[in-house]
Amino acid sequence: MLNEDLSYEPDGATPKPPQLSIVLPIYNEAESLPHLLEELVPALEATGRTFEIICVDDGSRDNSFGELQKLRAQDARVRVVRFRRNFGQTAAFAAGFDRARGEVVITMDADLQNDPTDIPQLLAKIDEGYDVVSGWRVKRWQEGFSAFLTRKVPSATANWLISKGTGVRLHDYGCALKAYRSDVIKSINLYGDLHRFIPAIASYYGVSVVEVPVNYRSRQFGRSKYGISRITRVILDLLTVRFLLSYSTRPIQIFGLMGLGSLALGVLIGVYLTFVKLVYFENLVDRPLLLLAILLVMVGVQFITMGLLGEMISRTYHESQNKPIYTVREELG
Ligand code: UDP
Ligand code: MG
Repeated sequence: MLNEDLSYEPDGATPKPPQLSIVLPIYNEAESLPHLLEELVPALEATGRTFEIICVDDGSRDNSFGELQKLRAQDARVRVVRFRRNFGQTAAFAAGFDRARGEVVITMDADLQNDPTDIPQLLAKIDEGYDVVSGWRVKRWQEGFSAFLTRKVPSATANWLISKGTGVRLHDYGCALKAYRSDVIKSINLYGDLHRFIPAIASYYGVSVVEVPVNYRSRQFGRSKYGISRITRVILDLLTVRFLLSYSTRPIQIFGLMGLGSLALGVLIGVYLTFVKLVYFENLVDRPLLLLAILLVMVGVQFITMGLLGEMISRTYHESQNKPIYTVREELG
């Protein structure tokens, strides 16, 4: 048995949880891992805080797990979780967050693209009172034209879309180097590819989000796990997040509104057509307007029904999980 923790209470009895939890999602990063830990551990020690490094092996097919076993044997502050198969980066983050014991949770990529010496900057912001600190890779994109097309353009578009869609203004949603106060991260359930949207989801709960410029390095070993397909995933997730953020507790408000609008327009056109039929004896068979009226009425009814269904689902969601529809900052007495 290894010592789980190096930080014991002075009386030598109960082990104290570490102050920081670092969460690393890992998929085929065997070559990077030893270098990463070599940089990360001194950087964390320099902060003077106690820490744990939670490495989540997301079903790697190279020797990542072997490397992690070695690293764990050398340093008990390294904890390792191994997935049965590749579940994706979001799942890896979720596993890390579930296990994190520190008051502050820090995430970063395991491929050496984030610089561990940026961590103190993030911590300083947390100490200032912010709940979420997000890295902003200011000096990215020195990589040439193909990188410009396949990475810069999609990334800039995505950042712009997410900013507009969620109302949380960040320059760089894709940067994995982030720090969270642990109660914030533990109150969020992650699905799909939603890890990019954690600051946006968190802001819904009323937390304060801030950005700090961080270093960026290009990949030295292995290759990126994402291709151009990332774009569609981001767009679909953005839709989900946008919807959940604005209407999840009141779906009837959005669907009902659209439904009522459509229904009203349909009825109006219908009344007009009835009028021309009854007063002017016009034949309605060759009036496309009639089709439009019918369509609008049907769509209207559908939307209202959908809103009501949404209401039921959202109630089931909140009640089954005992999720309150509010978040409390503090309470006195
Ligand atoms: N990753 C993961 N599961 C996946 C894909 C990626 O855990 O299915 C990890 C990967 O090992 C890396 C981080 O997520 O530590 C970011 O991935 P990558 O560097 O490929 O993304 P990029 O830097 O190209 O955005
Ligand atoms: Mg990377």
